[in-house]
Amino acid sequence: MTDKTADLILFGGKVYTLDAAGTTATAIAVSKGTILAVGSDDQMEKLAGPGARRINMAGAIVLPGLIDSHIHVSSVGQVSEMAFLYDARSIAEIVDRLKDHAQKTRGAVVGRGGNFHESSLAEGRLPTAADLDSVATDRPVMITDVNKTIVNSLVLRTIDPDDLPPGGEAPKDPSGKPLGVFLYAAKMMTPLGGPSASVSPISTEEAIIRGLREAARLGHTGVLDPIVNRESIAAYRAIEREQGLPIRASIMPRLRSATPGELKRMGPLTVTVADLERIGASAGLQEGRLTFGPIKLGFDRWIMHRTALMYEPYVVGQADNFGSTGVPEEELQRQIDEAFGAGWSVGIHTTGDRGVDIVASAIEKGIEKVGQAPGRCHLIHVYYPTDKMFDIAGRCGLAIAAQPTFIRTWGETVRAFVGQERAERFSPLRTMLDRGITVGGGADSPITWHNPWVGIYAAATRKTEGGRILGEKERITVEEALRCYTLGSAAILEKEEIRGSIEVGKLADFTVIDRDILAIDLEQIPATKVLKTIVGGEIAYEA
Ligand SMILES: [Zn+2]
Repeated sequence: MTDKTADLILFGGKVYTLDAAGTTATAIAVSKGTILAVGSDDQMEKLAGPGARRINMAGAIVLPGLIDSHIHVSSVGQVSEMAFLYDARSIAEIVDRLKDHAQKTRGAVVGRGGNFHESSLAEGRLPTAADLDSVATDRPVMITDVNKTIVNSLVLRTIDPDDLPPGGEAPKDPSGKPLGVFLYAAKMMTPLGGPSASVSPISTEEAIIRGLREAARLGHTGVLDPIVNRESIAAYRAIEREQGLPIRASIMPRLRSATPGELKRMGPLTVTVADLERIGASAGLQEGRLTFGPIKLGFDRWIMHRTALMYEPYVVGQADNFGSTGVPEEELQRQIDEAFGAGWSVGIHTTGDRGVDIVASAIEKGIEKVGQAPGRCHLIHVYYPTDKMFDIAGRCGLAIAAQPTFIRTWGETVRAFVGQERAERFSPLRTMLDRGITVGGGADSPITWHNPWVGIYAAATRKTEGGRILGEKERITVEEALRCYTLGSAAILEKEEIRGSIEVGKLADFTVIDRDILAIDLEQIPATKVLKTIVGGEIAYEA
């Protein structure tokens, strides 16, 4: 069999290897952080070397280590300081959790959710300043999600409600009094402006460590962090050097745009190719658990702000709005060419059907210029893929980083924005897999909650937080969803040879959970508990 001996034996579990044949086993033998063998308890015990550690799985389910292919790690760390509202389903619950948080903190009371929406809240309406006043009137109280911030009266008094930016909305009650709700671009009028804004004072290093621990707690053995600047690159390196990253992290430097608008909007979050050269960061560079690449770029925007670039207009309120882009097409092409020229592959944020066509074409043009892409490129989000995009993806080997949690968290709003028919085709995972595309799983946290079990549930049910099924035909199976969060995400990192399934020679990254999600009723999946997260044979999280 092998002349090596194992220094770690995991036994007594139900191991889903997710190899091509779908093999199951009860035990795994590990040597120096790598899988030595997979089989029965007896077979693995025979491989144990002197002093080998043994972990009894006690009937638990063992999966390949999950990887979130799109998570803003330091923002997750910062949001972990706020009241957790992602799964709150009533205004009463939101208020209760904020009151609880207020007792444990000083200063502003801030809560974070995925999408506060009237159909997902028991009261059938959005919270207002009056609701938040019941938490406190002498401290700022604010809750925020992807497209809105709601403030209490104390904060409201500091904002001029008639100073609305284009695309922003700040609804009023029938008597003309502002409700304290600031939608879309109007979020910028509040102290919690950006999509992942935070009021937390913790350092970047501390935020990254907390974000990675948060990811490990929910079962992730690896992440792809899609916007790092020089400061966060330095922080990642310092953590890896001084204490080791809690889990594996691949980081995507966001390339600086030459266009003034994008420079103003994203400038501090971006780097130049020269910056990367200066700090010795090259594509695929590995430093322990830290890996560099691909380069992050962005094109069209967000459906939750009605700015994803579409062929047909948004149906509600804005019949002439087809969405918008952060950079012009020529600048997108220039950035792709610049990245390829410096040896980096790219991952590009693109959302609407018209947007994904333009982005896929630009990548193909870029590849034609250099003869071959420097590595696997991927499209991020892709709410609305097209036949043209699928054809290009096939020719160029493009993968998609999808976020099944969007279907659940945003489904009700998407339906209101683009109508029932288009909402049913939102993030069509069935179609993507049937077209042979590699799909990685993730949640774009803190945009939505980075709970992969909620994501797998959403992919398999397409049930919104309002309880509606959105496009039954686009459901995928739990096993397919699990493969997105493992092998699919590993392929986006170009690490599918060493990660993503439990096979001999791959890294000993495992997610151990309390229930058999491949056998139980789908409704029980979101409450899955992670018992252990194991990275390279070491425990990164234990319940
Ligand atoms: Zn993102």
